Amino acid sequence: MFRRVYLDNSATTPIDGEVVEAMMPYFTEKFGNASSIHFFGQEARSALDRARHQVAEIINARPNEIVFTSGGTEANNLAIRGLLEANEKYGKHIITSAIEHSAVREVCQDLEKRGYAVTYLPVYTDGIVKIEDVRNAIRADTILISIMTANNEIGTIQPVEEIGKLVRRFREDGKKIWFHTDAVQAVGKIKVDVEEIGCDLLSLSAHKIYAPKGVGALYVRRGVRLHKQNIGGHQERERRGGTESVPHIVAFGKACELAKNNLAETAARLKNLRDRFEQGIGENISDFEPNGNRENRLPSISNVSFRFIEGEGLLINLDLQGVAVSTGSACSSGSLEPSPVIRALGKNDELARGAIRFSFGANNTPEDVEYVLEVLPRAIENLRRLSPIYTKQTAK
Ligand SMILES: *Cc1c(COP(=O)(O)O)cnc(C)c1O
Repeated sequence: MFRRVYLDNSATTPIDGEVVEAMMPYFTEKFGNASSIHFFGQEARSALDRARHQVAEIINARPNEIVFTSGGTEANNLAIRGLLEANEKYGKHIITSAIEHSAVREVCQDLEKRGYAVTYLPVYTDGIVKIEDVRNAIRADTILISIMTANNEIGTIQPVEEIGKLVRRFREDGKKIWFHTDAVQAVGKIKVDVEEIGCDLLSLSAHKIYAPKGVGALYVRRGVRLHKQNIGGHQERERRGGTESVPHIVAFGKACELAKNNLAETAARLKNLRDRFEQGIGENISDFEPNGNRENRLPSISNVSFRFIEGEGLLINLDLQGVAVSTGSACSSGSLEPSPVIRALGKNDELARGAIRFSFGANNTPEDVEYVLEVLPRAIENLRRLSPIYTKQTAK
């Protein structure tokens, strides 16, 4: 029986009912501008304050260390560009990883064109950077390390606490160096604590945790100076100009509160679904390779390369049967480039092109997983029958 199963929760999530309920009044009767002095403004202001507390709490920060942005992409831009511009005199070298989200990777590539040097650390076959590599990459002119908390395609968790310790040790020796981490995928699935990580800047996004698109935040540790990127307003304590979208921020705050309260339960639920799924593909499908470290990863993501097929073909085939997944490949200049993340694991062209991300979320049920386990092996078998390399291989 046909059914729709959304397994692309790392791309975005549906909005939680309680979150919708919390935000609605701020579209209508509570519509004030939070910068206004009158009653309407104060009502909006106090809603912003409450949301700021809720967002701060999920990462163990102080409310005044939270800067609301239009999302994770803007938070990453503000973190990296803002920090570099405010501290130009200390150096022009950045350390990042080979598997960052495009909102970090492409900012770094752009900076390379403008006089910065960037080191892209390898992640080896398991998708995790090595702390020795981070240490060895630090130069006299290094001012920023930007390494994500957890990867959005393969879910691997990076050694961010060790990086934080390393950065603090360098700083105690008088070096000017800061640490940014993109925690957009990690928040709500694993514990994210800015004191334990010891980062200076941390990016969050609302729409990955059951709140609307178009809102996020940057955590800025007290005392860290940033050069403002959005100029033309005094909002966010002079760190980000522009009238705050109060309904979206209220929603984000509520989503953080729910995510924090339900963290252990959510993680266990996702892990159960994911593990059952992986057990099922192990039993019913041949010629595949899981991508990334099996243990040190988010409970929500399963990334697998299926041999003898194109990921895009499988994605379209699954979509026809109601199952939504993603490949991570990007269409650049008309040709389909395999995902840079899968390439960074050292996978060959064939395996990189056959990679599929299944990402689980709050709305998935065990029945959803069983349905996918029913349609997936058939879809793969059908595609492989059309593949000349597969036919030759099985005829041997
Ligand atoms: C989704 C995502 C982003 C971008 O966040 P937006 O709010 O969509 O701009 C950044 N980093 C990671 C790891 C993501 O998964």
